[in-house]
Amino acid sequence: MNRVNVLGVDIDNLTLNEAVDKALSLINEHRCAYMITPNPEIVMAAWDDPKVGKAIENADLVIPDGVGVMQAARILGTPLREHMPGIDAATEILKRLASRGGSVFLYGARPGVAEKAAERMKQRFPGLVICGTNDGYGNDDGAVVSKINAAKPDFVMVCLGVPKQELWMAKHAAKLDAGLMAGLGGTIDVFSGQAKRAPLIWQKLSLEWLYRCFEEPKRFRKIKRIPQFIIKAWRKRLGI
Ligand code: UDP
Repeated sequence: MNRVNVLGVDIDNLTLNEAVDKALSLINEHRCAYMITPNPEIVMAAWDDPKVGKAIENADLVIPDGVGVMQAARILGTPLREHMPGIDAATEILKRLASRGGSVFLYGARPGVAEKAAERMKQRFPGLVICGTNDGYGNDDGAVVSKINAAKPDFVMVCLGVPKQELWMAKHAAKLDAGLMAGLGGTIDVFSGQAKRAPLIWQKLSLEWLYRCFEEPKRFRKIKRIPQFIIKAWRKRLGI
């Protein structure tokens, strides 16, 4: 498959439709593949921790969630075809699963939030089977693995934040009886109604990250290394 290396991380160069097709074909194989949605934070986590790098390297599908990743790819002279926020890819996967009565397991977020998301998702994706939920704040990985395996989901949304979700998927994929897992950050919070996505105009202007920072100012801490990320791309491009 055509991949583009962005500052050490290989990213699949697909359109959203192609990525969703690929996700569905991985679900059909039912060998617990996993999908990662890099933004600059994840790429930088891979610089800091080789285990995160390995988790990304071993992923079956890697899609560009972050605007910063798209910009860096352009600066490096190897532009990616389509920006695809993980939540948009997840939404399309869920629509396709709903149309055939497929199932999803929601793992992550604070206690009670995944249940709330499940209620709303049943309305939004008629036909979708929500076959289980688990909050992201217990420490018993074995219990979560058993719960997922009992449910045998087509799709597992792993929403534990970066890089916990990437490390969790890499560590447990081989033990899971599921189709595809995806690391999706705050997606369960958004589906539950607890967190809001940016208005469409902010999304269209690729400024959703800024809107989220205004909504939740502690996010500014997360983006403070982005200039370093963009500078690294320029230095690589210019060979300095
Ligand atoms: N979270 C969790 N367990 C943890 C840490 C975080 O379940 O130990 C959840 C948190 O409640 C939130 C999500 O992970 O629902 C992370 O959301 P965020 O928007 O911060 O994602 P990111 O910016 O890392 O993609």
